[in-house]
Amino acid sequence: MAVDSNLSSPLGPPACEKDAKALRFIEEMTRNADTVQENLLAEILARNANTEYLRRFKLGGATDRDTFKTKIPVITYEDLQPEIQRIADGDRSPILSSHPISEFLTSSGTSAGERKLMPTIREELDRRQLLYSLLMPVMNLYVPGLDKGKGMYFLFVKSETKTPAGLPARPVLTSYYKSEHFRSRPYDPYNVYTSPNEAILCPDSFQSMYTQMLCGLLDRLSVLRVGAVFASGLLRAIRFLQLHWSRFAHDIELGCLDSEITDPSIRQCMSGILKPDPVLAEFIRRECKSDNWERIITRIWPNTKYLDVIVTGAMAQYIPTLEYYSGGLPMACTMYASSECYFGLNLNPMSKPSEVSYTIMPNMAYFEFIPLGGTKAVELVDVKIGKEYELVVTTYAGLCRYRVGDILRVTGFHNSAPQFHFVRRKNVLLSIDSDKTDESELQKAVENASKILHEECGSRVAEYTSYADTSTIPGHYVLYWELLVRDEARQPSHETLTRCCLEMEESLNSVYRQSRVADNSVGPLEIRVVRNGTFEELMDYAISRGASINQYKVPRCVNFTPIVELLDSRVVSAHFSPSLPHWTPERRRR
Ligand code: AMP
Repeated sequence: MAVDSNLSSPLGPPACEKDAKALRFIEEMTRNADTVQENLLAEILARNANTEYLRRFKLGGATDRDTFKTKIPVITYEDLQPEIQRIADGDRSPILSSHPISEFLTSSGTSAGERKLMPTIREELDRRQLLYSLLMPVMNLYVPGLDKGKGMYFLFVKSETKTPAGLPARPVLTSYYKSEHFRSRPYDPYNVYTSPNEAILCPDSFQSMYTQMLCGLLDRLSVLRVGAVFASGLLRAIRFLQLHWSRFAHDIELGCLDSEITDPSIRQCMSGILKPDPVLAEFIRRECKSDNWERIITRIWPNTKYLDVIVTGAMAQYIPTLEYYSGGLPMACTMYASSECYFGLNLNPMSKPSEVSYTIMPNMAYFEFIPLGGTKAVELVDVKIGKEYELVVTTYAGLCRYRVGDILRVTGFHNSAPQFHFVRRKNVLLSIDSDKTDESELQKAVENASKILHEECGSRVAEYTSYADTSTIPGHYVLYWELLVRDEARQPSHETLTRCCLEMEESLNSVYRQSRVADNSVGPLEIRVVRNGTFEELMDYAISRGASINQYKVPRCVNFTPIVELLDSRVVSAHFSPSLPHWTPERRRR
């Protein structure tokens, strides 16, 4: 029920007083976006004036935008690598930030094969929490009654390490779930989850997933929304149910937890939740044993009103599969964030995935935008509708004019704050889950595998391209190889080609290998050998569609269906990686 009309907001009638306050905050920030940005930059520059980094550029105490932009360069991670390494190694002097760096957030973006380390300070947790607190007030404008049930969210922590100086290095969500902000969150009827904290915080991904799914099944009629951070995570949960439904039914029938779940805190917590329920067990068996899994989400959780998952950017490839499993439920993309900083939220979360726009909140960091193909960065409020920009941030934690690597297109404004469509991340060729592989990483991987081919049978990879195959869950990388076989008597064997698959996996970055080994979110890499002449046909096809013969280059990744079909129709053999690549949480030093 809407509250008192004098609490009303231009975004719509708030569901409760707390929501009214949050919506007012959004209005205030977006109406005054430019002033908020100006003051925020001045605050960052004043408090960090004595850092080694800002002193180097001789700002002389200035805190205005013009001086800042004239004197401070726009940088990438590589430019900051020496400073970051010093902090990681224990230099506690104010290098980037006057506030102590409390931990490093490990980005899914990599540098030299390892996750980038993003410095953060303790108060940034409050800023992230603030953005989270705005999400439900906006959602409540569109979906009433979310306080009458629960959210079934599949949330996970990942492994963490310590830097040589003992600072934690972990993904931003792991940091958040382990924080008091999350663990000791006060009861909020709009934010009740089926997953107990014990399950979310369990570092073993199998036990965590098992328990979260079991709890979701036990509470199936309370579930009003189903989610994960990214679409790939929710599909992984559905696949998990497909593989393990009979174990769940068994546990529910007898009221006892599977013996593979050994985590003591989970066992203790589940002993209070799991009771024998043969009727529910029978229901699960009936629904899951059929081969037809269409609408499985709404069949098992019939009160689900929407899916809460990010399906923008690289995740758009999962929309058709999610539609199939959910019978076309709306998919809400609620926020846009990164390890560097949280950026903003979707003020119209029930919009179609292709129309999702994120409103950048001007209180999160200082934002600049470099027009695509241009060099001069413009202010948040000065971006132009329809144009594409690369996002640059200056954060409280000490990143100054840092290129995030995301390309955004302006779709409109809410008050004076622009709204952006996420276009893509720069230089990403292949992505299944949070892995991101660029062209040079793929090239290196093919070169390394090609050496094996040469040593074992004298052959070489004449041409290659790749494809992110998401028709399987989890999805996997496919490499199409055309071979140059020098000696017909020494055709590459299946064993050699499977070794090549594994060698490529070994060569890919640590996020890819972690996805394979620890998260099981990427399946074994596959080589599809195509017959000779296939890449020439590919070129003919491109030229027939208007490509210039002089400028034609083999695409190193394909996703246009006719091209994938052409390649698939020329496959002579397929080979999968026979085992997992190596991966440990420890970082390799440069
Ligand atoms: P990470 O560095 O691992 O924290 O990942 C952050 C990156 O994930 C962002 O810079 C984006 O490229 C991507 N990302 C985050 N939120 C979204 C979103 N809502 N839609 C599309 N991509 C996103």
